Amino acid sequence: MQAATQSDSSTGATFNERDALWPNYSPPQDLVFTHGLGTELYTESGETYLDFLSGIAVTAFGHSHPHLVEALGAQSKKLWHVSNVFRIPEAEKLARRLAEASFADRIFFANSGTEAIEASIKAVRGYQAAVGKPERHRIIGMSDSFHGRTIAAVAASGNPSYVQNFAPTDHGFDHIAWGDMAALDAAITDNTAGVIVETVQGEGGIRPLTAEMLSHIRQVCDARGLLLILDEVQCGVGRSGKLFAYETFGIEPDILASAKGLGGGFPIGACLVSEKVGQHMVVGTHGSTFGGNPLAAAVGNAVLDLVFEPGLLENVRKQADTLRAGLEELVSECPAVLSKVSGLGLMIGARCEIPNVELMTALRRNKLLVGRAGDNMIRLLPPLNVSDAHVTQALDILRLEVRRLQQF
Ligand SMILES: *Cc1c(COP(=O)(O)O)cnc(C)c1O
Repeated sequence: MQAATQSDSSTGATFNERDALWPNYSPPQDLVFTHGLGTELYTESGETYLDFLSGIAVTAFGHSHPHLVEALGAQSKKLWHVSNVFRIPEAEKLARRLAEASFADRIFFANSGTEAIEASIKAVRGYQAAVGKPERHRIIGMSDSFHGRTIAAVAASGNPSYVQNFAPTDHGFDHIAWGDMAALDAAITDNTAGVIVETVQGEGGIRPLTAEMLSHIRQVCDARGLLLILDEVQCGVGRSGKLFAYETFGIEPDILASAKGLGGGFPIGACLVSEKVGQHMVVGTHGSTFGGNPLAAAVGNAVLDLVFEPGLLENVRKQADTLRAGLEELVSECPAVLSKVSGLGLMIGARCEIPNVELMTALRRNKLLVGRAGDNMIRLLPPLNVSDAHVTQALDILRLEVRRLQQF
């Protein structure tokens, strides 16, 4: 590297400091958070922001939750990492709790969503090979999906924008238009091994599959000997108003990928599978150095404590109803700005009739942080324990800015 650029700020990152990072992100240059508490984020100069993005559905209980701080602190003083060469009681406990609360019997821990997806893909192929159908190796996904950024995950996503420059990506994925059930039936061949879908599509536009679609997919998988992977990296762990979103639709997957909210901000991912699938993932088939280490698993257990607290999932549903009702009113009142509300639980999308970035920037000027999604949407992902007062505050800011933009 050539001459280093000196920072002129004592603690904050400067523009020049960013020069040493890949230029693959574009954060607002003048905004740096120093700490957070619950749904609020603070800057060095003392400004307070309302965080309705939660680090993209990750800080499920907001910032600095005392139970999570305590769990991480306590574990950090005991043991950080031993690798999966040795037993990890915290991970065994987390796996047991996830299995008891879901369809799953066996859990593999990873460090991210995309790794949970990779494990899911390997579990599908591993199963088909183990039951004597090695020719079944292709997986059918839906258009506009997002399954992560590794080569296999972008190949599974069926979104040309993620694949550009990274060809070849024919690693065994076929795609149908989102929700097109006739196309699904037609796409199945002798080489098909499984189907991968987001129960609630996230990045591509906040879009839940319907109960009819999911039950059709389940029936087709059962009839043709295929495995169903649900990607619940974003919509899982309470965000839908249930522990996992599939519970809303009355079906069960064979494999489920989880991450994001599972660590509440500490990196952890999980691939949950039924015994039928899990029995084949024996020694030598898959692994991870960091996956499910004591720190990550301790925090994951603390997150589950909070998800299972009485009233938490009710809060998700209640705050979701309030937010959606407020947004629906704005859609009727300001159709030149907002045209549709969608989502499930506290994963809420509002489609914009102006560029979504314009509304996002206007909201940020008013100290409300939201995300964006495909289909020109803004995306609300507040913490699962968000309060009435913060929901009211967020809706007030949304009303102010949407009404102002409607005037143009
Ligand atoms: C975020 C996301 C991923 C990828 O997770 P990473 O932790 O970024 O690797 C996969 N699938 C869905 C649905 C996601 O929202």
